[in-house]
Amino acid sequence: MADWKNPPRLFIPGPVKVDDDVLKELARPTLGHRLPEYAQLHGDTVDMLKKILFTEQNVFLCTNSASGIWEAAIRNCVGFDETVLCAMCGAFSDKWASVAKSCGRNVEELKVEWGQATTAEMIDKKLASGKYAAITMVYNETSTGLTNPVYEISEMMKEKYPDVLVFVDSVSAMVGLPIHFDKLGWDVTFASVQKAFALPPGFTVALVSNRALQKSKTVPQRGYYFDFQAFAKAAAKNQTPTTPSVPHIAGLNYQCKKLVKEGMENVWKRHKEMGDFVRGWAKDNFDLFCEERYASNTLTTIKNTKGIDVGATIKAVQAKHNTVFGNGYGDLKNKTFRIAHMGDINMADLKELLAWIDEEIN
Ligand SMILES: *Cc1c(COP(=O)(O)O)cnc(C)c1O
Repeated sequence: MADWKNPPRLFIPGPVKVDDDVLKELARPTLGHRLPEYAQLHGDTVDMLKKILFTEQNVFLCTNSASGIWEAAIRNCVGFDETVLCAMCGAFSDKWASVAKSCGRNVEELKVEWGQATTAEMIDKKLASGKYAAITMVYNETSTGLTNPVYEISEMMKEKYPDVLVFVDSVSAMVGLPIHFDKLGWDVTFASVQKAFALPPGFTVALVSNRALQKSKTVPQRGYYFDFQAFAKAAAKNQTPTTPSVPHIAGLNYQCKKLVKEGMENVWKRHKEMGDFVRGWAKDNFDLFCEERYASNTLTTIKNTKGIDVGATIKAVQAKHNTVFGNGYGDLKNKTFRIAHMGDINMADLKELLAWIDEEIN
């Protein structure tokens, strides 16, 4: 039944569908990664990413899925005698805390119920103790479909705790939601490219502040593959420490060109329009899982108030239209379901999908 050469169109919140013109970019001739052609591609791509993400600091091109940078941020920038505060509000932010523990660091958890946002006040209360060197948080929690108020949090942090390093998982946010990296005062943020960059999985864009890079010099046992010092040294020559996935960078270059041309304000607006559209449908038929003011513009987690058989509905849509959307994550399976509206997914795609779901549920 399953046919990997004719897979369903993806509305799961990562990976999302990749358009054919983008796929073609990944099939260009191989470049030697120490040759000038590669450096040109690397440098050009980094320059565009700096514009898109509003930074003049360090952009690293990393051949790994985003989870690797959870580990990198901790291993490079948190000493063994320091404590990191992990803000947890769903599956992905929860995982970052367990990654930090597995790296042998002192972790304190700031937990809210799934579907709730982490607010500036909550973080302020914890940081007031003065015992934290760094904080981890997720911009957009892909399990609950929630966007944390990261701009508010960052303002508060800059004013009251300027010495605490800020690590932000922007995996399902980056390019779909605003990131003014330098202005926000963040130290590490990152996204794998199978979400709003709309590329195939296996590659990650990471931003690292100058002060995080300085800090990493003082932290022992940073390991080999994710050593920020090695990345910085290679980046100075428009290279990576080890052989990169050049096809991904060619695809990323293509996607960045499109984003620069469209203009980020328009990109964010386009995502908001898709979000509004899916939220409207969700409220007409079901309900949103999280409070509407925190609902994400890159995916919607829908509360299954009608008690539909989510798995059967996904299967039916797949059988008829070779298209899939996402069931709820972990404990939220069947209680919720998720629809991605990011990257190269467009309004026409969404209208089609929602009409097909309507046919199954009404
Ligand atoms: C998808 C996702 C991840 C995991 O990314 P990988 O590329 O699979 O490692 C982490 N955090 C968030 C918020 C995500 O949406």
